[in-house]
This record gives sequence, structure tokens and C-alpha cells, in this order.
Amino acid sequence: MNIFFDVDHTLLLNTKDYSVLRPGAHISMQKLSEQGNEVHVWSAGGKTYCQRIVEQHGLSNWVIDCHDKNPKVQPQPDVIIDDDQYLVEKYGGFTVSQYKKINEKDRELLEITEQILQGVLSSSIKKA
Ligand SMILES: [Mg+2]
Repeated sequence: MNIFFDVDHTLLLNTKDYSVLRPGAHISMQKLSEQGNEVHVWSAGGKTYCQRIVEQHGLSNWVIDCHDKNPKVQPQPDVIIDDDQYLVEKYGGFTVSQYKKINEKDRELLEITEQILQGVLSSSIKKA
């Protein structure tokens, strides 16, 4: 599956003074990749902004590509993870609360990852 992560307030909190990744971002992307998914990052801030964030936070190992948030994006997302509920309803996926304050106890990305992986598992069981 093509899994698209939003940047601002989903993957991280980015202000003019600092940029802090949401807890579990690395593990989430690693697990999803290892299970055969393609991890993408997209943002209304544009492709270059996404690339900078991905490099800055050491996510390059898992991110296949970065994109501007364009409805014609290729490949098309199968699952999106976003703080914008409207977009999640449009594309399908999971809404996260807006990460607007550093919270080391936040587990939303990890919980969503488990749900995605369990979904993959149950559909492969059904096919067998
Ligand atoms: Mg956002």
C-alpha cells in the first residue's frame, strides 16, 4: 500500500524556533516499510519542504518519495495519515490529533501503525 504521511501537526511540530518529531515517527515508518508498504510524505508546503524535513529528521531510509499535496499525486495514496479530517475522508486513512505541543507520551502514530499492520494481516489471511 502507498501510505502518505502529512508533515505539519501530523509527523511533527515545526515552528520558527524548533522542529520536533512526533513520538513513534521513526518506528512507524520502519515497521510499515518492513511489511512491504511504500511510505510517502506530502505537504501543502511543497516537495522541497518535505524533503528537507525528511532529511533533517533522519527519515530518508524509509521514505520512498516526497510530494506536494496535489490530488493528482502519483502514485495515488491508499492510506493517508493526516490531522485534516476532510482529507482523510477524501482519500481514506487515519486522522491524528493536531500535534501542536511537545508530548512524549503521544502514541497516535504507533497505534495507527498497528491498526494498518493488523489490516494487512487480516486481508492476507482472507486471501489464503
Ligand atoms: Mg497537517
